[in-house]
Amino acid sequence: MKPPPFDYVRPDSLAEAVRLLAADEDAKALAGGQSLLPMMNFRLARPSVLVDIGRLPELSALRREDDVLVIGAGVRQRTAETAQLVRETCPLLGRALRHVGHHQIRSRGTIGGSLAHADPAAELCAAALALDAEVVVTGSSGRRTIPAAELFVAPYQTSLSEEEILTEVRLPIDGARSGFAEISGRSGDFALAGAAAVVRFEDGRVADARLVGLGIGGTVQRLTDAEAVLNGVALDDGTIDSAAEATGSATPTDDFHADPATRRAALRAAVQRALKQVSNA
Ligand code: FAD
Repeated sequence: MKPPPFDYVRPDSLAEAVRLLAADEDAKALAGGQSLLPMMNFRLARPSVLVDIGRLPELSALRREDDVLVIGAGVRQRTAETAQLVRETCPLLGRALRHVGHHQIRSRGTIGGSLAHADPAAELCAAALALDAEVVVTGSSGRRTIPAAELFVAPYQTSLSEEEILTEVRLPIDGARSGFAEISGRSGDFALAGAAAVVRFEDGRVADARLVGLGIGGTVQRLTDAEAVLNGVALDDGTIDSAAEATGSATPTDDFHADPATRRAALRAAVQRALKQVSNA
């Protein structure tokens, strides 16, 4: 499959990239190309011009700012997955990224591209929501910050406007324990369902649990019924099983990969495994 005709530009600065996107409503940012180019090949996207943001220096941050891990949108997924700083400050991210496609995909795909693409089965989107991350975006009217909870609005749709560029993700570093698990047909496939867990403890009991499911609907989503089971109790095999059972109210879509019952079963298993990682951490 070949894409429809398109123009290509590679601006030298973020300001120029924003200007180019604002000038043409059919222009699209190109980052790692691992989602956009297949979509063009399948004629699901027909941008007039690709604005290549893959090498913009403004998108290359990978640093700690007090209690926040800052990762530039242009950082490759594989770079974040293997970075010592990420391993030390935000282990959930590395665990989640390991499940994104194959390492060849992660070597090209970017952190910002995955968040902006907003696939309902995206591991990174689930991790960002579980970690209560924020993203910074820049458009022609300036810079703004969006909490992950307000970023993913529908399948493959975020709250960014067409001319805004996601420039960095900011992840709190707060010592919470975390886990990530997913169930897929084969290693490297998109998950049937998965779960990210971030849990804070006080006096041996769960003070705050954030559980996020992926692959179970239009967007990655908090599993609030399961969270409610955990808050205030000790995390043991019994409470983990109860939390996993409480995900039964999820309403996954029916598609040719799996029916809702299969996805619900996969979600239950993923929640159980993610929480076991938390309890063993
Ligand atoms: P691109 O493909 O370049 O762009 C994707 C979209 O985001 C485009 O609409 C683009 O305009 C927009 N965009 C990109 N960057 C920005 C930005 N900074 N600001 C605003 N908009 C932006 N993903 C998973 O999550 N899990 C998987 O298991 C998985 N498996 C895969 C398997 C295969 C075989 C392939 C080809 C891809 C897979 N992916 C998977 C997708 C992969 O993670 C992509 O890298 C990611 O979804 C998009 O990142 P990208 O940098 O390649 O973005």
